[in-house]
Amino acid sequence: MKLADRTARTGAGVLQQTLRITEIFHSLQGETSRTGLPTVFVRLTGCPLRCGYCDTTYAFHGGTTLTLDDVLSEVARYQTRYVTVTGGEPLAQKNCLPLLSALAERGYSVSLETSGALDVSKIDPRVSRIVDIKTPASGEVHRNRRENVEYLNSRDEIKFVLCGEQDYAWAKEVLLERRLALVCPVLFSPVYGQLEPAALADWILRDRLPVRMQIQLHKVLWGGQPGR
Ligand code: SF4
Repeated sequence: MKLADRTARTGAGVLQQTLRITEIFHSLQGETSRTGLPTVFVRLTGCPLRCGYCDTTYAFHGGTTLTLDDVLSEVARYQTRYVTVTGGEPLAQKNCLPLLSALAERGYSVSLETSGALDVSKIDPRVSRIVDIKTPASGEVHRNRRENVEYLNSRDEIKFVLCGEQDYAWAKEVLLERRLALVCPVLFSPVYGQLEPAALADWILRDRLPVRMQIQLHKVLWGGQPGR
């Protein structure tokens, strides 16, 4: 899509479209290559998945209806460069796409966190897509949209959230079989309180895997809460 087309799509009329929003808050980014960066999080309401380890079940329902304009104003209040759009599953709301473009147009460095169950091909190319590949122990492995990987590039990141050794073995096989490390950075993340981080570190080193291990910084800092 040409830039002019994108701008037209995020003009005044588009900014009056609405989204269900669970929360907008300022915190340190706890995951991905942006870990530790002061970031504004825009959490959209709703998710069609039900992962066993989900730590944002409060975002499944409720929320407040805001226009894109309202969201942009709230984000601007925090005066930070980094914005993460998350959920729930943000792509479950069609107006997530114009929100992402509007944020990028305003010069923010934008990332999107998605379950990997929905199409990521239409997302503004200025946005970094953080795409999960759900493992068997999540209970949602059948929801993985396999073709999503074909749309990713070096700006994006693939994330496996791992519940135990069987998940690790499964993720390793997918990583190597699909040569994911050649597509973009790949993150292996232990489920907080379920998989011992040191065990995961040992397995990654033993198997010489070309991945980045991450521990959710916000959980280390603030316990079970995804942000504050
Ligand atoms: S995709 Fe994310 S928000 Fe949805 S159930 Fe899974 S962990 Fe929770």
